[in-house]
Amino acid sequence: MRAALEEAVRAYEAGEVPIGAVVVAGDRIIGRGYNQTESLRDVTAHAEMLALTSAQNTLGAKVLPECVLYVTVEPCVMCAGAIRWSRVGRLVWGCDEPKVGFTTISSEILHPKTTVSRGILADEARELMRRFFEERRVGK
Ligand SMILES: [Zn+2]
Repeated sequence: MRAALEEAVRAYEAGEVPIGAVVVAGDRIIGRGYNQTESLRDVTAHAEMLALTSAQNTLGAKVLPECVLYVTVEPCVMCAGAIRWSRVGRLVWGCDEPKVGFTTISSEILHPKTTVSRGILADEARELMRRFFEERRVGK
């Protein structure tokens, strides 16, 4: 999750909503991503989507049942759908996303075999988000 937070800081520094993700296989990071919806002008360029694509390219496989996806903020429904199709073995997120997190719709969007942990380094992830939106409000 530390590595995912580092990705989130990269997003923050690029003026993007600061969310980061990594995919881990064994003890190796095989995919990384941070939110790039502004720089790529692509609403699908969420951290999780980019990390999944990067992991799939690394492995040359479209499904990731042996992998763990760490993301700093609870995924949205789009990403939860992609996590389902990727059959990620385990999903770990930092802070909850009470507005657009997938669990506000249904936890069953995920693949039934995917296990979930939440609240890991949540304070750091939440603080980064809070700071980003606060700076936006005061027009920095
Ligand atoms: Zn998303």
